[in-house]
Amino acid sequence: MTKHIFVTGGVVSSLGKGLTSASIGTILERRGLKVRMQKLDPYINVDPGTMSPFQHGEVYVLDDGAETDLDLGHYERFTNSPLTRDSNFTSGRIYLKVIQKERDGKYLGKTVQVVPHITDEIKAAIRGLAGPDVDVVITELGGTVGDIEGLPFFEAIRQMPLDIGRENCLFVHLTLVPYLKAAKELKTKPTQHSVQQLRQIGIQPDILIVRTERDLGQENADKIALFCNLEKRAVIEEKDKEFSIYEVPSGLVEYGLDKLILEKLHLLQAGPSGMEDWDDLVHRIKNPKHDVNIAVVGKYIEHRDAYKSIYEALDHAGFSHSTRVIVKRIEAEQLERQEAASVLAGIDGLLVPGGFGHRGIEGKIQAVRYAREHQIPFFGICLGMQVAVIEYGRHQLGLDDANSTEFDTATPHPVICLLEEQRGIETKGASMRLGAQPCNLAEGSLLAKVYGKSEVSERHRHRYEFNPDYREQFQSGGMSLSGVSPNGKLVEAIELPGHPWFAAVQFHPEFKSKPHHPHPLFHGFIEAALKRHQSRK
Ligand code: GLN
Repeated sequence: MTKHIFVTGGVVSSLGKGLTSASIGTILERRGLKVRMQKLDPYINVDPGTMSPFQHGEVYVLDDGAETDLDLGHYERFTNSPLTRDSNFTSGRIYLKVIQKERDGKYLGKTVQVVPHITDEIKAAIRGLAGPDVDVVITELGGTVGDIEGLPFFEAIRQMPLDIGRENCLFVHLTLVPYLKAAKELKTKPTQHSVQQLRQIGIQPDILIVRTERDLGQENADKIALFCNLEKRAVIEEKDKEFSIYEVPSGLVEYGLDKLILEKLHLLQAGPSGMEDWDDLVHRIKNPKHDVNIAVVGKYIEHRDAYKSIYEALDHAGFSHSTRVIVKRIEAEQLERQEAASVLAGIDGLLVPGGFGHRGIEGKIQAVRYAREHQIPFFGICLGMQVAVIEYGRHQLGLDDANSTEFDTATPHPVICLLEEQRGIETKGASMRLGAQPCNLAEGSLLAKVYGKSEVSERHRHRYEFNPDYREQFQSGGMSLSGVSPNGKLVEAIELPGHPWFAAVQFHPEFKSKPHHPHPLFHGFIEAALKRHQSRK
């Protein structure tokens, strides 16, 4: 029988529930268990694909094309749980399903209500991940206990023990114990109130994970246990990590969380803990031998989560080179006011990530031009590739005012445009070119070398494409179109032979990088940047 762990959060949002859930996945997998991860989000959007990165951070894309919450990125980086569109449900998606059934007459004349119809649909979504080859499903509830819109989800998980047995369910609640400077004290009251709120709904947590910036201390832990009706050993401290999020799993093991979960869920099939490679990774992260300076030029720079997977993938590549990647986050519009030479001074590599809309495009073009002309390693991703094509067209091929029709419908040189499949699509939800697509790499290209193979599959999320009418001109003008779709129609990657490292791709490699297995493109990019750094020194 598959066991279920529910991770809820209290006191404040942004506590790192996704990271903690992912870390629970890690430590259970290290015990030899088969884990599935899932996130339930209370907002009404059917998926986060229609939300601006400023609202909700990065949209994380899966192989099957699902546009999901960025916490699924943590799940993929920390575990081997296969993820599909059933790994992320929102209120909107649940309600849409129920309403569709109602319109189809499936409820046979009944009054359709939150309880039981919405909650049944939520439970079906949770149980959908269980199966004979799954030991544990970890379901994270978005939002904070007490939020109005989260109530149906809390009610659904409250009912789960009634359906499958209390011994098969484990409730983990994550809270914050803040430090009050004036009082020089950690405060446990918000945690007590948060657990009270859970209990009002009918959920008694089995384990409390407490986020703190200072040592919790036995006294506080005992107090929390007493007031929250918990065993003392079930109050687990998760202190802020000094170096990296990848320290979290080892920290939880240190507090005995894995043992406790196995015991409480009677997971007798589990093996001994095997955290060695994870501990080794943390050791490497803490003891880098080199530094490298990478500029990320984007338009969502001030939102730390907007390029989450990009920053993680850069770090992963750094880990494998024993290098600390120092990221300079640059607002693209700054390059429209200031010289690229001053804004980009001292960088060893430039990365231009994906994005939508006109704002900041000219700044990104300036940045790419600077990297191209000054032999600085450049890595373009999705919009980053489109910008590199526009830049090359304008400044190297003499195509004045070349542009993407996304930004200028009247451009004389639409080097990036909509192709047949995307023309005429008016709806916004899930209507882009999405998910894993195969790509063939040209023999002898930088990309083929970096990947070490000639066929790859990568995830996409875009509407616009390299305009095939300009292929000839770019190729004879020195740009290599080194990645194309198997039917030869779509340009998936470009590079500049002769430049130390200039590559850009229409897909999103950052979604497939893992801390122990950096993505080859990020690995190659950081290697080139490191070379530049060392030669400059
Ligand atoms: N806006 C561009 C397009 O739709 C790029 C998208 C992206 O960078 N993800 O094609």
